[in-house]
Amino acid sequence: MSDQPTSAPTPKPPVSKPWIAAIHAYVPGKSAGADGCPLVKLSANENPLGTSPLALAARAGAVVPSLYPDPDSTALRTAIGSLHGIDPARIVMGTGSGELLTVAASAFAGPGDEVVYVRYGFSLYDIAARRCGATTVVATDSDYGTDIDALLAAVTPQTRVVYIANPNNPTGSYIAREELTRLHAGLPGDVLLVVDQAYAEYVDPADDDGALDLAAAYSNVLVMRTFSKAYGLAGERVGWATGAPALVEILNRIRGPFNINNSAQATALAAIGDQGFVAASRRHNAAQRGRFVAALDRLGDHGIRAVPSEANFVLILFDGALTAEVAYNGLAARGTITRWLPGQGLPHGLRITIGTAAQMDAITAGLRELADAAG
Ligand SMILES: *Cc1c(COP(=O)(O)O)cnc(C)c1O
Repeated sequence: MSDQPTSAPTPKPPVSKPWIAAIHAYVPGKSAGADGCPLVKLSANENPLGTSPLALAARAGAVVPSLYPDPDSTALRTAIGSLHGIDPARIVMGTGSGELLTVAASAFAGPGDEVVYVRYGFSLYDIAARRCGATTVVATDSDYGTDIDALLAAVTPQTRVVYIANPNNPTGSYIAREELTRLHAGLPGDVLLVVDQAYAEYVDPADDDGALDLAAAYSNVLVMRTFSKAYGLAGERVGWATGAPALVEILNRIRGPFNINNSAQATALAAIGDQGFVAASRRHNAAQRGRFVAALDRLGDHGIRAVPSEANFVLILFDGALTAEVAYNGLAARGTITRWLPGQGLPHGLRITIGTAAQMDAITAGLRELADAAG
């Protein structure tokens, strides 16, 4: 051993791939103010009704921590299949739909390939595409809504995956069945269309976008669903995807081997059995969102407007004396954390989850005070 440390060459640390180094980490919704004080959390689109009591009971009783979970989540896939009329062999589970969104890009795209999504789309698509070295292609929106013509125009021979969330996050915008059908019809058969339906349970069933029908009929469509939103199980991390057997088989090769833990399998299985809770969540959301949007309309002369939403949140745009940043800080000072989105190209936007009636009344009163104070 030398006692002359300067003679040893400085070891070089590992270097990440350039496409990994270019990733900005996912920014989760906050739950506390700048001083660390916990606030009412309307920043992460969680369910204000909590979780089905049946699911909570199953969670309390089910856990056998010493044993690995069923690697194929068989009972859960069977229950999902019978609820939606899907062969369980065509369903793959993920640790949240986030896992599946990510592995879908890794399976079908890589360096030199392109992954397309709409501006003001879900931030995970950017991470998923970059993580596998693909090039991101962002289609322009149409007044914050998804523009099918712009998405189709963004497709090139290098395109391997197109992501679309319907309803979209963070805008809440929704495209109808005819538009989704038109998007799929305009894509080459070797381009994978991923329809992220994280908020599908909040949409009036009469307005179904037909994504599950596309996934059943075509070999290039994956639909992703989650238990994180209307099912009230964000903390258990359960999502699923369905599509042609060949697509499902590929995702099964690269997902985590035991990706749904014992507690999550039991809890989600019981949650599937309580469709009354899901329907109550949809009704609560529609009623409170309607009331909230009507209250926002009355703030229109302050340059405040809501993007039309079919989801469990509303994107509010600030175009007057009150800015989104001042509104964000003012609402936090009044006890509620919302989601200000400068990092997603929306420095003038605040995304607010639909909470309880009292929580929405507090938001409305706070925004009115702040707008009046701003002039
Ligand atoms: C919340 C959300 C998801 C679901 O994420 P999980 O990993 O299932 O919790 C997926 N897509 C979008 C657009 C979302 O907003």
